[in-house]
Amino acid sequence: MHVLVLGAGQLARMMSLAGAPLNIKISAYDVGSQNIVHPLTQTVIGHGLDSAIETADVITAEFEHIPHDILAICEQSGKFLPSSEAIKAGGDRRIEKGLLDDAGVRNAKYYVINNREDFDRAIEHVGIPMVLKSALGGYDGKGQWRLKDPAQADSIWAEMAECIATTETQAIVAEEFVPFNREVSLVGARAKDGSVAVYPLAENVHTDGVLTLSTAIADTELQQQAKQMFTAVANKLNYVGVLALEFFDVDGTLLVNEIAPRVHNSGHWTQQGAETCQFENHLRAVCGLPLGSTKLIRSTSMINILGEDSLPQAVLEMDGCHVHWYGKEKRAGRKMGHINVCGDYNGELQRKLCALADSLDKDAFPAVHEFAANFSE
Ligand code: ATP
Ligand code: MG
Repeated sequence: MHVLVLGAGQLARMMSLAGAPLNIKISAYDVGSQNIVHPLTQTVIGHGLDSAIETADVITAEFEHIPHDILAICEQSGKFLPSSEAIKAGGDRRIEKGLLDDAGVRNAKYYVINNREDFDRAIEHVGIPMVLKSALGGYDGKGQWRLKDPAQADSIWAEMAECIATTETQAIVAEEFVPFNREVSLVGARAKDGSVAVYPLAENVHTDGVLTLSTAIADTELQQQAKQMFTAVANKLNYVGVLALEFFDVDGTLLVNEIAPRVHNSGHWTQQGAETCQFENHLRAVCGLPLGSTKLIRSTSMINILGEDSLPQAVLEMDGCHVHWYGKEKRAGRKMGHINVCGDYNGELQRKLCALADSLDKDAFPAVHEFAANFSE
């Protein structure tokens, strides 16, 4: 099997690593340069979408901000999974919100803003405090504003108006501010026959809008809610592949924040912590193979490595610590790799996270330090 991935970043890279044992070969298509590249070495192996499609058995995607004309061409080939509809829902918050409503899953109250009058109506409908997000192109908390006081409305509007003006199709989605206790996500797979397999929920810590720490958790009640919502969304899209749902946990009730129609950063822990990792399960699903077990095999956390290209020796020296570099050039704040840390039981994992805080830099790994500080209290 030969799978073409739209996007040539770390997710395509990790799909390639997971596909090799199954004889699934991955090529990556860099949407910007239009080059077909090897997902591990980045060596250019071809050029142009037509030839990329020609040689592939299956086409999938590692990100959702893909120009619609490219999606249309891929879909027309009959090889594209999940679907352009699913990718568009992940890339446009207006479509995403409509999908969540249609699937009947709880999400934050919202209002779409195209002009200043809409903004005033949004303030009335959604209320203050509110979170404002660009409909297109947002990631890692970028393209967002917080309105906490009506007095801020004029200055925020000036910035939002500029954002709306950049693209003809851009808009802003206003959302009620959700006073959540914590954030969790569910990564799961849906196969061509409609069967669904979900991983245990992950509890996620974000620092300045970017995921920094993600830990698989066991919570029967929340898991049940999350799986029901996952299945509703996946069925609505007739989805094939791995899909992630991000949630706010408000006193034990889950609200969907957003969806990602692809393998997800909060599912990287599955490489060491689950029977079958998310990358293998995505490939299994899109290649029409049976899904692999999503069972938790040991307590696992994932720590993102942001803006750093080296780690202290102590990390690799620690039992149950696995480092995954993405082979990228160092840039401030860039996702450079991640560490999966495993314990035989929760207490051991917690002890290891505390030990890691002793060797990892406090500014580069704030979530690990915060964890250790809370743990020792
Ligand atoms: P991602 O990198 O996950 O794609 P994103 O840029 O698409 O991020 P969101 O996940 O929508 O953005 O928001 C980023 C973070 O901002 C969330 O993880 C959450 O901490 C906070 N946030 C978003 N929406 C709300 C809300 N309605 N109420 C409170 N906090 C929110
Ligand atoms: Mg998010």
